[in-house]
Amino acid sequence: MFEKVLIANRGEIALRVHRACREMGIKTVAVHSTADADAMHVRLANESVCIGPAPASESYLNIPAIISACEITGADAVHPGYGFLSENAKFADILKAHGITFIGPSGDHIRLMGDKIQAKITARELGIPCVPGSDGAIRTNEEAYAVAEETGYPVLVKAAAGGGGRGMKVARSKDELASALSTARAEAKAAFGDDSLYMEKYLGQPRHIEVQVIADSHGNVAHLGERDCSLQRRHQKVLEECPSPALNAQQRAEIGGIVARAIKKLGYLGVGTVEFLYEDGQFFFIEMNTRLQVEHPITEAVTGIDLVREQIRIAAGLEMSFRQEDVQFNGHAVECRINAEDARTFTPSPGTIKDFHTPGGLGVRVDSAAYSGYRIPPYYDSLIGKLVVHGRNRNECLMRLRRTLHEFVIDGIKTTIPLFQDLVNEPDFMNGDYHIHWLENYLKQKS
Ligand code: ADP
Repeated sequence: MFEKVLIANRGEIALRVHRACREMGIKTVAVHSTADADAMHVRLANESVCIGPAPASESYLNIPAIISACEITGADAVHPGYGFLSENAKFADILKAHGITFIGPSGDHIRLMGDKIQAKITARELGIPCVPGSDGAIRTNEEAYAVAEETGYPVLVKAAAGGGGRGMKVARSKDELASALSTARAEAKAAFGDDSLYMEKYLGQPRHIEVQVIADSHGNVAHLGERDCSLQRRHQKVLEECPSPALNAQQRAEIGGIVARAIKKLGYLGVGTVEFLYEDGQFFFIEMNTRLQVEHPITEAVTGIDLVREQIRIAAGLEMSFRQEDVQFNGHAVECRINAEDARTFTPSPGTIKDFHTPGGLGVRVDSAAYSGYRIPPYYDSLIGKLVVHGRNRNECLMRLRRTLHEFVIDGIKTTIPLFQDLVNEPDFMNGDYHIHWLENYLKQKS
């Protein structure tokens, strides 16, 4: 097992990884920018290294500085968290070349899934159902028109290098398609330095359902059920639940089995998430994330399995600690992403948290690196905490969620807590009756 793990991240996820390491008797190294010198992950880690100034490009994305930090501290492995370098194949390759273990899949698997066109081709070959659309990259407008004729409008133009909902454009007619192609190409070039595009049928009212999988280097593979992440704003997840209100046990076992077999064939290592849109009883692959997800705690709540601990075991060459037949799905869990943003306009609200009181009690978990007196730096994303609530069934879980949202106190800044307080009184949400466009429609009606 590793002696010392460097955590190449910040905020709640750095703390999350630190906690797993501590429970496994592994020492931790925190890295931080100058803006994060007084952050909680820095205070709790065994050692810390400042890796650069506030902008992420000069600190949390600064590969040479992170490699130096590993060498100075003698860390034998790096956990990348999510975001930042977690899906950077070059980073995984460089660490390997330095004899440091990257806690994640191989650089080649990251590269393969990072190109969404290649990912889709691979998924299809592995027997995973995909959204109908172009077979590969779209080179000319004529090609795009032909694909749209075949699938029917509306269509979605997507960037091969896309992420975070960027570089996506909907087109409802041939005219719209021409302009969608040129804006998506320009956006993708500017955001990702790669203007390859592909196309999909734009699904009207699907749910976003993703399957958690895990594989070790001893040939063991398992799926840990699904998460429903249909409550989204600008293609970004806002609240997630596990299991999905739309699936039954048989459907869960079926799609889970398809994904687990595919991952085994691929020779994948570690944890991963295969994302689908789900409409009229059918699953359509959209992408695979080769890292720990923000919303992993709801799967942990329902299965009782510590995903970070398993990641570390697998990276160290051990077997995962359970088998598919050991996995039991108990009760229901919901996660609310609490952002330092105005709950109506979603404008960021950095500043100093004057008072921070987290809810507690049975079935309640708060993953956050915030504290009373913490100053939120304006340089990074606005997630300041995740409220994760578990109950023996969906109703108990939602009643508990309602109770905890009343208990949570974050004073001094604006947060998205009021949005969730409203949602737990919305009949559609309470009935589990929603799709990926529901939240945006709801917000539009309210404003
Ligand atoms: P990103 O990597 O940028 O997050 P994804 O491919 O994962 O992009 O898609 C993000 C979200 O965009 C999905 O959860 C869904 O809401 C929406 N989306 C993606 N593909 C489609 C599609 N074919 N039809 C309708 N909505 C889609």
